Amino acid sequence: MGKITGFLEFDRKVESYTPVKERVQNFKEFTVPLKEKEIKDQGARCMDCGIPFCHSGCPLGNLIPDFNDAVYKGKWEKAAEILHATNNFPEFTGRLCPAPCEEACVLGINEDPVSIENIEKNIVETAFNNGWVLAEPPEFRTEKKIAVVGSGPAGLAAAQQLNRAGHWVTVFERDEKAGGLLRYGIPDFKMEKHIIDRRLEVLEEEGIRFKFGVEVGKDIKADTLKKEYDAIVLCGGATIRRKLPIKGSDLKGVVQAMDFLSQNNRRVDGLPYEGEDILATNKNVVVIGGGDTGSDCIGTSIRQGATSVSNFEILGKASEQRTEDQPWPFWPMRLRTSSSHKEGAHRFFSISTKEFIGDEQGRLKGLITVNVEWENIPGKRPVLKEIEGTEKEWPCELVLLAMGFTGSEMTIAEQLGLEADVRTNIKASIKDYSTNVPGVFVAGDQRRGQSLIVWAISEGRQAAHHIDSYLMGESNLPLKGEGDLPRL
Ligand SMILES: Cc1cc2nc3c(=O)[nH]c(=O)nc-3n(C[C@H](O)[C@H](O)[C@H](O)COP(=O)(O)OP(=O)(O)OC[C@H]3O[C@@H](n4cnc5c(N)ncnc54)[C@H](O)[C@@H]3O)c2cc1C
Ligand code: SF4
Repeated sequence: MGKITGFLEFDRKVESYTPVKERVQNFKEFTVPLKEKEIKDQGARCMDCGIPFCHSGCPLGNLIPDFNDAVYKGKWEKAAEILHATNNFPEFTGRLCPAPCEEACVLGINEDPVSIENIEKNIVETAFNNGWVLAEPPEFRTEKKIAVVGSGPAGLAAAQQLNRAGHWVTVFERDEKAGGLLRYGIPDFKMEKHIIDRRLEVLEEEGIRFKFGVEVGKDIKADTLKKEYDAIVLCGGATIRRKLPIKGSDLKGVVQAMDFLSQNNRRVDGLPYEGEDILATNKNVVVIGGGDTGSDCIGTSIRQGATSVSNFEILGKASEQRTEDQPWPFWPMRLRTSSSHKEGAHRFFSISTKEFIGDEQGRLKGLITVNVEWENIPGKRPVLKEIEGTEKEWPCELVLLAMGFTGSEMTIAEQLGLEADVRTNIKASIKDYSTNVPGVFVAGDQRRGQSLIVWAISEGRQAAHHIDSYLMGESNLPLKGEGDLPRL
């Protein structure tokens, strides 16, 4: 283990942010890196507690105490090897993961947890800066052909693992660049897109082929793909957006968050986009939905120069601290405040939007809300109740609907005869990610519903192991927590 008294000597420290006034002038990342000594001290805080609950908190089973120890000792290259043994893309999770590992950290029971996510980011950035992230093409090829549909984190992780096993992997992506929601959903201020490009260069050098601008199900039928490839893994994400079908929802100015965010990311990247400009500039903006997507809409609106930004959440305001009914080491549903929330948004909880109001030209000019409360009935789902006399009218020229996704698109499922659940997530055995059609597998948001990057990478890796076994009878690709740990 690292420094025995580290957790007593050093307080938790993570990267700081540049001042709000400065950072909202552009869409660049705005973290201020720690010095090397500070990061090593953070690694030293890991207690190597014997039963590392952080492993179970991380869906990838990252070998956290091992890389913390390596960082503390300044063995950065070893730390990078340990990290990559379980995580294909730590530069994504090191920036964007909500870090369930930190909620499960033993030190977190009565102290601030180890800053695992930030250590992870520093390890991978050191590795890239020193040229240690190199292509690892397989030593032999099996001549089996695999089609990966979708190039989000699930598809990229599955592709890299399957390529490592020696199969010929082709990734089909309907967009013109790879990354899925990493590129066309998550704003640049959370992750600049050259971070994805840098990793893609490595994947291409390893021999993975990409076919962009190809929508499977439309440009190439799924059954044709099935005939041409030995296995298919579907990683198309959960793309069906939840709607708010109330009066006025067809007014100009009521916009789906993903239309707004993807257009902005395209604009920042100099890529073309369809439809009219959707801009928050000089508008009173209301973001409906309090999750990650809502938070990204807030940061983007502020950077576009919105007059005001309000955020409505239908659920009540959660406690900032872990409550008794959500004990350690489980992931607690507590109030999370993002960097975007702190850039000038006004947050409102227990509030429901009843109607959008338009002018004579059909443009949004306001909306009506009502305060709500949730009645808990034992054994049943909580019931939403409006509070009488709390209706309020708000001026607003742009509404961004950020209420999540309800499921995945069904075209491929219909063409292949795949079973789906009521939410249109494609059904697959959790044991081996196989669908009801032999040779067709599914991973990431398209299987589990709207989720997290770390889960997408994890599912892509797990699915790859089972596809390799399906094709070859056995597999050396690691399962969760079976990273090939290098010797320190
Ligand atoms: C705005 C926003 C912010 C988020 N922020 C975070 C965050 O900070 N941290 C976090 O952990 N998670 C975050 N998430 C969730 C995270 O992005 C997703 O869970 C993750 O990207 C899912 O990965 P995936 O590979 O399953 O699918 P996706 O990333 O959705 O990728 C699916 C890909 O498949 C392609 N595709 C779909 N159908 C076809 C087809 N028929 N043919 C060819 N290609 C196809 C799509 O074009 C897309 O590129 C956020 C989500 C959103 C929307
Ligand atoms: S991927 Fe996420 S959960 Fe896993 S160690 Fe990194 S920050 Fe923690």
